[in-house]
Amino acid sequence: MAPAVSTIAPEDKQLTIWHGLDISEAIARLQSDAEYGLSKATAQRLLLEVGANELAAKPGKPWWLKFLLQFNQPLLIILLCAGLVKAVTGSFVNAGVIWGVTTTNAIIGFIQESKAESAIAALAKAITTEAIVIRDGQKIRIPSSELVPGDIVLLTSGDKVPADLRLIQVKNLQIDESALTGESVAVEKDTAILKPDTALAERKNMAYAGGFVTFGQGTGIVVATGNATETGRISQLMEQHTNLSTPLTRKFDKFSQNWLYMVLGLATLCFVVGLGSRSFQDALEAAVALTVSAIPEGLPAVVTVTLAIGVSRMARRNAIIRKLPAVETLGSATVICSDKTGTLTENQMTVQAIYAGGHQYTVTGVGYAPDGEILNDEQPVNLNRDKGLQECLIAGLLCNDSHIKYKNDRWVVMGDPTEGALIAAANKAGFHQSTLAQQMPKLDGIPFESDFQYMATLHATSQGKTIYVKGSVEAILQRCTLMLNTNGQPRPIDCVETLKQTSIEREVNIMARQGLRVLALAKKPVSDKQNTLDHPDIADGLIFLGLQGMIDPPRESAIKAVQACQSAGIQVKMITGDHAITAGAIARRMGINNNGSVLAFTGAELAQMEPAELAQVAEEGVVFARVAPEQKLRLVEALQSKGEIVAMTGDGVNDAPALKQADIGIAMGGAGTEVAKEAADMLLTDDNFASIEAAVEEGRAVYKNLIKAICFILPVNGGESMTILISTLLARDLPILSLQVLWLNMLNSITMTVPLAFEPKAQNVMQQSPRHPNEPLLSASRLKRILAISLFNWIVIFGVFEYIRQTTGDLNLARTMAINALIAGRMFYLLSISQLIPNLIAKMDGTIQENVDIPAIAFGILGAIILQIIFAHVPLINYVFETAPLSWQQWLFCLGVGSPMILWAAVVNRIDPPN
Ligand code: ADP
Ligand code: MG
Repeated sequence: MAPAVSTIAPEDKQLTIWHGLDISEAIARLQSDAEYGLSKATAQRLLLEVGANELAAKPGKPWWLKFLLQFNQPLLIILLCAGLVKAVTGSFVNAGVIWGVTTTNAIIGFIQESKAESAIAALAKAITTEAIVIRDGQKIRIPSSELVPGDIVLLTSGDKVPADLRLIQVKNLQIDESALTGESVAVEKDTAILKPDTALAERKNMAYAGGFVTFGQGTGIVVATGNATETGRISQLMEQHTNLSTPLTRKFDKFSQNWLYMVLGLATLCFVVGLGSRSFQDALEAAVALTVSAIPEGLPAVVTVTLAIGVSRMARRNAIIRKLPAVETLGSATVICSDKTGTLTENQMTVQAIYAGGHQYTVTGVGYAPDGEILNDEQPVNLNRDKGLQECLIAGLLCNDSHIKYKNDRWVVMGDPTEGALIAAANKAGFHQSTLAQQMPKLDGIPFESDFQYMATLHATSQGKTIYVKGSVEAILQRCTLMLNTNGQPRPIDCVETLKQTSIEREVNIMARQGLRVLALAKKPVSDKQNTLDHPDIADGLIFLGLQGMIDPPRESAIKAVQACQSAGIQVKMITGDHAITAGAIARRMGINNNGSVLAFTGAELAQMEPAELAQVAEEGVVFARVAPEQKLRLVEALQSKGEIVAMTGDGVNDAPALKQADIGIAMGGAGTEVAKEAADMLLTDDNFASIEAAVEEGRAVYKNLIKAICFILPVNGGESMTILISTLLARDLPILSLQVLWLNMLNSITMTVPLAFEPKAQNVMQQSPRHPNEPLLSASRLKRILAISLFNWIVIFGVFEYIRQTTGDLNLARTMAINALIAGRMFYLLSISQLIPNLIAKMDGTIQENVDIPAIAFGILGAIILQIIFAHVPLINYVFETAPLSWQQWLFCLGVGSPMILWAAVVNRIDPPN
């Protein structure tokens, strides 16, 4: 029956001491119903009334503060001071321009940063959590944001508690409430009524929003949502702050600090030396010009943009970055430890082999469609005769939480594919879920959990109450003493002492060697008094019913991705809860190996090992089977002790520690639990191994683009500083003034460098070995590159300036032409390191088909040309920046002087390949 319309005002609900109320009283107050839940209409109305179940985001820093913080960089502060010095000495135009350009830079930085932040925040929003609720008497899955007080919510391990709940039913329910209470041990919950003054951390009959279910199941009624929840009230948790700093940007900050001291030292030197040969004003100008020229003002903006573009490129390839540093770390990954089921394989299960009643059967048909036959020696079976088979199929159908459905012209599974396969197999023999559910109603159950590797259900049957169990062979067999023969009569399992293996184990190996995932099924008759089910009930005394072996084909895209990783010097390791032989067969089929060998170890073996031995095995092994979550953590640590950079996937409740420990923790967007997602650095929206490989590829490309940008910007600073320093020391006119330097370092640099962030990745990114994580930002060969290009730049500026000054005597013209020649050279340099030309050539060769990103670099060059025309020909700019218009012959002259860069860059690229 639908409950009446709720009339309680929201304030009353907040004041209610829910943990002090009896369950029925709590449900009554919320005008809900434990079985029926709320009606959809009531829920909708309440949603409008109380609002969405979301924590109002704490307002972030106001925009003006964020903007001001842009100036909080030593480099910019120096510039502001330089402007001040200019103002004090009366050069107001100069001061104004320095401040203006600095502000422009801050605006650009501010815009870029906000864009990057909102891109990352949007990705985070794309990950919605869902809750299972009962509405109108039906179990449905809804976004957690739509929960309202009175909703009946079902919790299972791995879930995030979506709102504050008064628990009305629990089964071994344990919740980690550390986010709320600071208590790191999960709390065992129950439903009993508590004293009103019970402290928050001890309210065992409540589950609070933000907690994680670490074990068991439970049902609760929502008593508060959104900001009315306990978390909402103390909410410091939801600070909407996106952190843009990464190891690289931190390295960078440190680098710029040291750089700063050096620049200040040099500027002082320049000032002192300058005083010897020129006026105070001019000496100061030289010092300021040197400071300004040595500082790569445009660089921070470029770094942020490059990282942000990396993030969005990865998202386009189904890898969502939750923590920005992962973008970089991905590029240096040396080992990827991946789940098997669903990540390397399709997770499309079909039963192909059955062993029951001492007979082997084969099953025909594909997918979840009920079309197919069960054959014994190529003959259709007679189920009336093969009672063992019948029991085995029925067990698979009853001990099952999933359904299959005909949807959009095909059969799909609603729930676990492993269970879907069992349903399809039983359907092929004419057994159906709906009829069996009536004949043998389910009374209670223990759902599947990787830690136990089994699932059990209790049923009332015509022969009395029976528990059905299914799970991994190891988990089931150790609990069995009897097995069924063909006629369905129990007999002892083969004597283990005399044979190396039982007949069952032999059958398991036959199936596993073909790469089949093997499930064992069993039952246990129990007394008619039993109405509930718990782990101890199935500790022993089970009757073995049979095995069902199912295929789970490898994903085609994963096979390719594995090859790509291995040729990129990244080891791929399979970590699975499945059987070692099955996993080994799949690894071989997918080409996963370590120098050709496929060593497999089981969790039980790993547990015995000393750390040193484990580290060795972790390096050499390829398949780790029957691995428990805590062993994943040990494996990560072992690999890291060998200096590996480890990417590790996980989806279960207990995978969080391993995901956190891994250099890159990867959770499955689809199959993963909330706990795993929360702990991960990256989410895969399609759960596919190929997306990990794609992310690594993008990670490498991001790093390359960053280095390219640095190597592109710094030589201009180098050339400028050399020019100013040398001209000051030689007591000559400065070939370039501080304002002109700013023009170059900010406007020109950003226009020409940002396109580098959009560069497509080089064709060979996945043919190189991983970058060493401790590799310095600028290696020796990169420093040489920067120096060589700086030298070229110096020759151009100094040479053109001196030549034009001596031939025309026009200082403004000489400076304008020196700068234009520098930029001409810079354009050629940009082309020489960009992917544009190699990609165009590859395209003409037909080596690549994809569209190459011509516009980014081309726009950059076009933009730079327009800026230079403004620089030389707009009167106001002429006045402010002390420039002069050029004739077309003079323009050509500049282009000509810059062009030897083509050859020079070619030589440099030989020594230090840019890609
Ligand atoms: P993985 O995902 O790494 O293949 P799982 O942890 O999901 O491994 O499963 C481990 C083992 O548990 C499987 O090999 C299978 O024997 C058993 N198993 C898997 N799913 C179920 C289920 N729904 N019910 C019972 N047993 C299962
Ligand atoms: Mg699994």
